[in-house]
Amino acid sequence: MTKNDVLREIFGYTSFRKGQEEIIDKILNRKDVMAIMPTGGGKSICYQIPSLMFEGTALVISPLISLMHDQVMGLVQMGVKAAYLNSSLSEKQYRQALARAYRREFKIIYVAPERLETESFVKLAEYLDISFVCVDEAHCISQWGHDFRPSYTKIPNFLEKLPKRPVVAAFTATATQRVKEDIKEKLTLKDPYVHTSSFDRENLFFEVKRSYDSEAVLMNLVSQIGNESTIIYCITRKDVDMLEYMLRIKNFSVTKYHAGLEIDERKQNQEDFIFGRKNIMVATNAFGMGIDKPDIRYIIHYGMPKNMESYYQEVGRAGRDGLESKCILLYNDRDMHINKFLIENGISEELSAKERELVKKEEMNKLRTMRNYVFCEDCLRSYILSYFGEHHSGNCGKCSSCMEQREFVDGSAYAKVAVACIADTGERFSSKNIISVLKGEHTDFTDTWHLSDSQYFGALSDLPKDTVSEILDKLVIHAYATVDTKNYNALKLNAHAFQIGRQEQKILIKPFVKKEKRANRSETVYTIYLNHYDPSLMEKLKNVRAELAKKYGVPAFMIFNDATLREMVIKRPKTAEQMKDISGVGSAKLKKYGDVFLETIKNY
Ligand code: ADP
Ligand code: ZN
Repeated sequence: MTKNDVLREIFGYTSFRKGQEEIIDKILNRKDVMAIMPTGGGKSICYQIPSLMFEGTALVISPLISLMHDQVMGLVQMGVKAAYLNSSLSEKQYRQALARAYRREFKIIYVAPERLETESFVKLAEYLDISFVCVDEAHCISQWGHDFRPSYTKIPNFLEKLPKRPVVAAFTATATQRVKEDIKEKLTLKDPYVHTSSFDRENLFFEVKRSYDSEAVLMNLVSQIGNESTIIYCITRKDVDMLEYMLRIKNFSVTKYHAGLEIDERKQNQEDFIFGRKNIMVATNAFGMGIDKPDIRYIIHYGMPKNMESYYQEVGRAGRDGLESKCILLYNDRDMHINKFLIENGISEELSAKERELVKKEEMNKLRTMRNYVFCEDCLRSYILSYFGEHHSGNCGKCSSCMEQREFVDGSAYAKVAVACIADTGERFSSKNIISVLKGEHTDFTDTWHLSDSQYFGALSDLPKDTVSEILDKLVIHAYATVDTKNYNALKLNAHAFQIGRQEQKILIKPFVKKEKRANRSETVYTIYLNHYDPSLMEKLKNVRAELAKKYGVPAFMIFNDATLREMVIKRPKTAEQMKDISGVGSAKLKKYGDVFLETIKNY
């Protein structure tokens, strides 16, 4: 099989992403590689495809047990013979896996770096024909990286013990020069081919909302998100506990994660989120390492992180499947104080007074750079990329700065219409549904409740949806309306809501307008999508997927991810042949799941 065949047959993808093909070619030509790609950039297939094409067995060294587990589960779903050897296996399981490895049953073995130092593993490696060694999260070898793992420095020792030096490829998402040099040197890479992908994640939309009432903004936001997969990052554990509680009593599908929870609870909550049993994860930055759930649609920061590195790493967890996803930072002035406090109290006691002073200065600088992001009036994407040393021409059209007119305008007239609409429909509906009414959208909900009969149905259809949403936000923020959390988040009006427009009672908004239409690929895809996408078929396919996931005990996205289902909805395949043309449908999955999905589409 050629690399294209493997991509097609096993992974079910139609084309390579930028950089992938070159990296694979170099590895196949037995050249060492160092690849720097952002989170979600598609590193895995860069080493998985060569692993499948080389003779013998490939080793993937990975620092995270959860990640190994997920990767192997995903590969097995695709019919690949893969396994992992780490401390999560019981003695007996380990011995069994080892025995199968000796029988050369695996093409890919994931292994924790600590294993490489054990005699039993070295023996196995000498016995097997190790064609290729991939070092994932290679920055762990550097003290300058953010997750130094001493056992990574033992990798070259291990390589020397092998009868024949395998091809070595190192992958990371960390790009600083110092770390790059460290990786090359410490891993003893031989004149490696170096690939650096752009850090731009084109499918992410960046937004900053500054407010003195982040809580109200957040509640409103969450009630509009529906059941999309979402992470809400908080600065403190206390905030996590508080928000999770608030969302839970309002019947949102929510769970939480921070270092203060018992290990079992943490594990359970994490799994609930990954498997899609819970849609919203409220967490501190302790959550996320080694999580590669591809269908996270929203990353909301309830509070500003302490530096751009953390921020970009956290938002990088959104939209790994390539679908449009939003990263929203809610900023409140108190965030500065909390971060300053955390910096001052978080510096290691082991440092000398002078060193502490230096570290503190550095961290305060980083904090200021982060704050400048929050107040940045120019393209946010440009700001981020230039921070990471990449040039971007600005005006990306996909961030809140690029989307909004700078000036506030008086939106009171619109706000009055919104108030009238809320009153007219009996103060019974959430802002999400009020938006549908004002925009004149027919949804299952508006149809069921005959909302199109309201005289306000479509009353603000000329405004962009984001602006209508902003108006409702403002009603809540300025206490003209309250979210009735005991009642499906219905918007209730306060007495002075009817005073809007009189004297000082103005609602100011910053209407979203697209500055300039950029003709690009995603626009045409988007148009096709709008014309052929049927949400209720999607819902059906998601249900089928959920049942299969339950039956096979895997996360839903490992059956097919959202991007794959979406393509099925748009293309409506009728035969197995057509099904195979859908991105993400490889031979193994076609055989295993194809019929059920074809049947569902046919019956629809
Ligand atoms: P990384 O490890 O770099 O964070 P992954 O390897 O997990 O990223 O890839 C992110 C997502 O993109 C995964 O869901 C993966 O299946 C998908 N993907 C990778 N390469 C392709 C491709 N060529 N075509 C379509 N999807 C891809
Ligand atoms: Zn922009």
